[in-house]
Amino acid sequence: MSVAPYAADVVARLLREDLRGHTAYGAPQLDVAVRLNTNENSYAVPPDVVAAITAAVGGCASSLNRYPDREFTALRDDLASWLTDQTGVPVEAAQVWAGNGSNEVLQHLVQAFAGPGRVAMGFTPAYSMHPIISRTMGSTWIDGLRGAPTGAFDLTADAVVAQVREHAPHVVFLCSPNNPTGTALDLEVVAALLEAAPDTLVVIDEAYTEFARPGTPSALRLLGDHPTLVVTRTMSKAFALAGGRLGYLVAAPEVVDALRLVRMPYHLSAQTQAIARAALAHRASLLAEVEAIKEQRDRMVRVLDALGYPPVPSDANFVLFGGLADAASSWQALLDQGVLVRDVGIPHHLRVTAGTPEETTAFLSAMAGLGESHRLAPNSTSPLSQGVSA
Ligand code: PMP
Repeated sequence: MSVAPYAADVVARLLREDLRGHTAYGAPQLDVAVRLNTNENSYAVPPDVVAAITAAVGGCASSLNRYPDREFTALRDDLASWLTDQTGVPVEAAQVWAGNGSNEVLQHLVQAFAGPGRVAMGFTPAYSMHPIISRTMGSTWIDGLRGAPTGAFDLTADAVVAQVREHAPHVVFLCSPNNPTGTALDLEVVAALLEAAPDTLVVIDEAYTEFARPGTPSALRLLGDHPTLVVTRTMSKAFALAGGRLGYLVAAPEVVDALRLVRMPYHLSAQTQAIARAALAHRASLLAEVEAIKEQRDRMVRVLDALGYPPVPSDANFVLFGGLADAASSWQALLDQGVLVRDVGIPHHLRVTAGTPEETTAFLSAMAGLGESHRLAPNSTSPLSQGVSA
């Protein structure tokens, strides 16, 4: 289709002023042999779960003439019982909300609690959709800083509390485990923030929590005492269901109720509800590879360290590593060998998803084969970037 040559000018004039010049979220989707760039689960959905999903979708097909259950009641029950099993914290259906991926759930939170004239805040580098969603919904975004004395990407309770006190955001996002750095947050940081900022909605994004190292508690433990706490999660990672698009959150029933004000009616299709329920019913099978993925993650950490590319400690299904002279040219060199990783915009660093043993071997061999020109000179510093795109 031909487009009028001046269309770009017209659109630039019509577009909201605050969106002009912004770039869209855009992790490359390239057709290469080893795709380790978007923290998906490398394992295909196993045959028993495929059969259950197929039957579940078939079961709802004839009633697609009707709108689905707007309250997704059965799915919320199932999510509540999964969360209770996984964390030992009793969760009720009234505390659960879900959306088409946790991105939609995050968007609902911003729509209801931030938005025009309000302030949302996070701590860079973290998940890039937190600022994108906040800004596109009209909120003012504040980039808090990491870099406590304990390490370049760590966050201490004092640092978080001081910055939140200074900016008094309506909503604050913390990621645990953090994307793109990989490390889980100390619960003390969350507890201190909840105490210090009773008028701020505190959102803990636990998209990767199922991969955390032993002894890493979920922020769900703090929920009972704190009506301003929200914990978001997803079936896109450990559950190997990124294509199914199901994210969820746990919060006080009153917070969940507020989200009904902003969601589109029937936002979760009948087939999405059916697929998610079938997946939850077969969770043992779907989650079976989590331990294998963690082993590959730990193997990546060990070998990258030995190769002289310092990895950041990871509780997730990915590893951020540094020591690169120029991240963009190393990214290209890996891609030339059929291995796609992520350049998240942190100078001298790349992020790689832990895959199958074969994919991990392909990545580590490609890393071992990078020439000396890819290595950062020994005493260079690695400043943090504000332009993170995780
Ligand atoms: N939170 C974090 C930290 C993520 O990394 C991602 C996806 N990369 C999401 C949320 C959103 O995932 P989804 O919408 O697939 O649930």
